[in-house]
Amino acid sequence: MSILRVRNWLDPVLRKKGEPVDNIDENLARLVEDMYETMLQARGAGLAANQIGEAKSLFVVDIGIETGKRDLVTVINPVITAREDEEIAEEGCLSIPEIFAEVRRARRVELKGVDLKGNDVRYEAEGFLARAFQHEMEHLAGTLFWDNLSSVKRNILKRKFKKLQKEADE
Ligand SMILES: [Zn+2]
Repeated sequence: MSILRVRNWLDPVLRKKGEPVDNIDENLARLVEDMYETMLQARGAGLAANQIGEAKSLFVVDIGIETGKRDLVTVINPVITAREDEEIAEEGCLSIPEIFAEVRRARRVELKGVDLKGNDVRYEAEGFLARAFQHEMEHLAGTLFWDNLSSVKRNILKRKFKKLQKEADE
């Protein structure tokens, strides 16, 4: 297993849509193992394939994150099939490190997809996990959480990001 480089929002791969996966093979299983390791090392709750430079329709999520019991799952070719209610909560992204903002999202979602064995999976999630699913789905559509904000707010966050980057480089 190896730690992959998490791309930041300046990388054009973050704007690519995830290509549907039609072949679940050893290479894909290896990629997923690396994504798990990368996500855990970065202390993230989820990671979409394009965040590590692969524009494929899949993401990994720790569905046990709220309980403290690690439970890593992979969802291939995911689709959100139902959304209910809304709530606003703070959110961050491994591709926009150190930047957080409040985002309005559905409070409950149903997500369908396929697991690494090729079996159909279905999750009903609410709160934090529902938010994580919606966040990862946006990555697979080539968008980022701050695209939900006004351009004024987004520009403030972009400036903050660049300032932090500059400080880190000095
Ligand atoms: Zn993200």
